[in-house]
Amino acid sequence: MRDIVIIGSGPAGYTAAIYAARAGLKPVVLASSVEAGGDLMNTTEVENFPGFPEGVMGPDLMSKLQEQAEKFGAEVILDDVTSVDLTGDVKHVETGYSGSYDSRSLIFATGSAYRKLGLPDEERLSGRGVSWCATCDGFFFKGKTIAVVGGGDSAMEEATFLTRFAEKVYVVHRKDSLRASKIMQERAMTNEKIEFVWNSEVTGITGENAVEALTLRDTITGETRELPVQGLFVAIGNDPRVHLVHGQLDLTADGTIAVEGRSSKTNLRGVFAAGDVIDPSYRQAVTAAASGTVAALDAEHYLAALDQIEVEKAAGIPLEAEQLVSAE
Ligand SMILES: Cc1cc2nc3c(=O)[nH]c(=O)nc-3n(C[C@H](O)[C@H](O)[C@H](O)COP(=O)(O)OP(=O)(O)OC[C@H]3O[C@@H](n4cnc5c(N)ncnc54)[C@H](O)[C@@H]3O)c2cc1C
Repeated sequence: MRDIVIIGSGPAGYTAAIYAARAGLKPVVLASSVEAGGDLMNTTEVENFPGFPEGVMGPDLMSKLQEQAEKFGAEVILDDVTSVDLTGDVKHVETGYSGSYDSRSLIFATGSAYRKLGLPDEERLSGRGVSWCATCDGFFFKGKTIAVVGGGDSAMEEATFLTRFAEKVYVVHRKDSLRASKIMQERAMTNEKIEFVWNSEVTGITGENAVEALTLRDTITGETRELPVQGLFVAIGNDPRVHLVHGQLDLTADGTIAVEGRSSKTNLRGVFAAGDVIDPSYRQAVTAAASGTVAALDAEHYLAALDQIEVEKAAGIPLEAEQLVSAE
């Protein structure tokens, strides 16, 4: 029986592992077989993670976090979790090839996935002009012409934010009206750097090593044309990776795992959640890492309370620590 299993190896999972390992809990990190390291493996330069004044490549940052977790005794296993049973006191996890894991506590840090357009060159040009995060990458587009795809609040927010850097921002939307709230629409529509391209969908992205142009298809006439831009921000939504816990953990209206207040505590005792999978708003590497810290500390307190129960039971006074765990 393990003390703690962590599902996910992004900034949240590895930071939780660093804290849990330093607390002597020997965590197992089920890191995924092909997506170990999480979202930052798909990017180039990260300039806003504290402690790296020169910036750091996403994959380098993640391998440093892994190294730091392993240095303190975390066991990182490159395997995918296929199912979980979280309801009992023993948390049971099944994986693709390394078998099953039983644990007294579990941290769920599976992140979230930006919705993609599904275009052939989207992945290839990711970090080379294609982005899903204006906060992360806007700074790289000083004086450039870019396009934002989407019609909701987040597309309007991204477009407005990007005008701080870009010379011109096109908002490309498939319809002739927006889904975004009135105030967000107004803010974008009165910004003179923003131009709306209505009834249009992006059907292609061109550029050898960086984005050079988009192919737009008119959704009414079917005609296509090229729009020269140096950047494309895809703002069509985000899906927290929660399919493993459907029916077990409570979710919020945003689809993230529901946690109690500022803690990482889910509706099931001994199960904690951290990072983008609980975060509908901020979704940054450093906020995910901070959230991993919270989860590790919550799990540590929970395990200490369980240990205390055993001590009290042995001494014939079971009540106090039982109450402590219920409160966890
Ligand atoms: C292209 C791109 C660029 C970005 N740039 C920046 C930036 O410059 N600065 C910044 O602060 N943020 C940036 N972000 C956002 C940042 O990457 C995320 O906020 C952060 O990675 C979230 O961390 P996380 O640990 O919650 O989740 P993730 O990093 O998404 O990690 C989730 C982990 O869970 C694993 N997992 C999921 N399901 C399973 C399963 N069934 N079994 C095992 N493992 C599983 C995944 O494989 C992954 O390892 C960027 C995001 C993207 C996509």
